[in-house]
Amino acid sequence: MVCPDQECGNVSITFDPFMFLSVPVPSLEITYLEITFVSLNPEDSMKKYSFKIEEEDTISTLKTKLSQKIQVNRANLIVADVYHNSIFRWMKDGDSLMNIRKSDNIFVYQIEEGTVKTLTVIQRVKDTSKYQGYEPKGLPSVISFTNNEPITTRQLLPIIKNSSERYMAQTEKEREASFEQLVKVTYLKHAHQANGPEITFTDDVVVPLDNKDYLVVTWQSRESFDDLCDKNVDIIKDQAEPNRNQNITLKDCLDLYVTEETLKENNEWYCSKCKKHKLARKKFDIWFSPKYLIIHFKRFNVSRGYFNSRKNTSLVQFPIEGLDLTEYVKSDEFLSQIPPIYDLYAVSIHGGSLDGGHYTAYGKNFKNNKWYHFNDSSVSGASPNDIISSGAYMLFYKRRDVQV
Ligand SMILES: [Zn+2]
Repeated sequence: MVCPDQECGNVSITFDPFMFLSVPVPSLEITYLEITFVSLNPEDSMKKYSFKIEEEDTISTLKTKLSQKIQVNRANLIVADVYHNSIFRWMKDGDSLMNIRKSDNIFVYQIEEGTVKTLTVIQRVKDTSKYQGYEPKGLPSVISFTNNEPITTRQLLPIIKNSSERYMAQTEKEREASFEQLVKVTYLKHAHQANGPEITFTDDVVVPLDNKDYLVVTWQSRESFDDLCDKNVDIIKDQAEPNRNQNITLKDCLDLYVTEETLKENNEWYCSKCKKHKLARKKFDIWFSPKYLIIHFKRFNVSRGYFNSRKNTSLVQFPIEGLDLTEYVKSDEFLSQIPPIYDLYAVSIHGGSLDGGHYTAYGKNFKNNKWYHFNDSSVSGASPNDIISSGAYMLFYKRRDVQV
């Protein structure tokens, strides 16, 4: 452990005997988040982007990444989880991306520079056969205001028209119908409210609207509404998509194990010199290596919430004979006496998922040097090729100098 405090510089070394080495397995499964970007101009088609995301990423990270891609100031992006044609929730900068589920529809809206207030416009089609008297339709749109002055009905109409006119069916456009005649506009404090006060454009009065209130455009006839208007989405592929077919070796896992890490919040180390909890740097090393070496692959990750709670099934290549730990063993005295070369004699296999699984094992008979597969009460012959599988969970190695 190294105290991050420059003046303190406390280095604490602890020797711990170990039963087994618990090594991380790099994941080949890459988590992607798909979002749809909605430009300020309602005539622009929507753009779908997919981002590679990491465990620590938040909405703030997403905004930064998108902002670099589309050259829009990140302060002018707001992020919503859209559900059933309505805003389910507005997401905050600190919200973790790992809590977003694959089925969620995330939309990033561009707002105007210097926005102080936004209003959401939702579309509905009047339908008296429905319990509530309407059916939600289309994608919510966001309108932004750059001042806090009261808004009058007369100012509001062109803004609402601009955000919603694109939903007008072609047939209505052809007969030159006017937007005002086809819809009824109301406003709500919550998106799921059925009805709110109506806004009539014949008189010019102040509408008492707060930030994030909803304006509801209810199309009076199904025929007036163009269902296909939102279907025009450009899909932009991430060019930096990494190659997923790389091989992971036991060396990769051991390298990760000995990589220095900086402790995270809520996991501080108490420095005995400066008497404070610190985000210290931590590093594991192997001082000398045991006669029998047990390696455990950390394949289960249950700490990241629903989205990522899963088993890492990456295939790890490991040597059956001649695993050499020389570069990892730190005691020169030990190295000068015993070469840390190991041969495999057993593997524990975990089959199945997080919720249920089954353990089997491979073992080598030291008398006839043959491999066997042990599955509950049955034992069968096995070839060394069967042993290296994505189910390998624990490896049992014996140092070469040890006689049995
Ligand atoms: Zn310290």
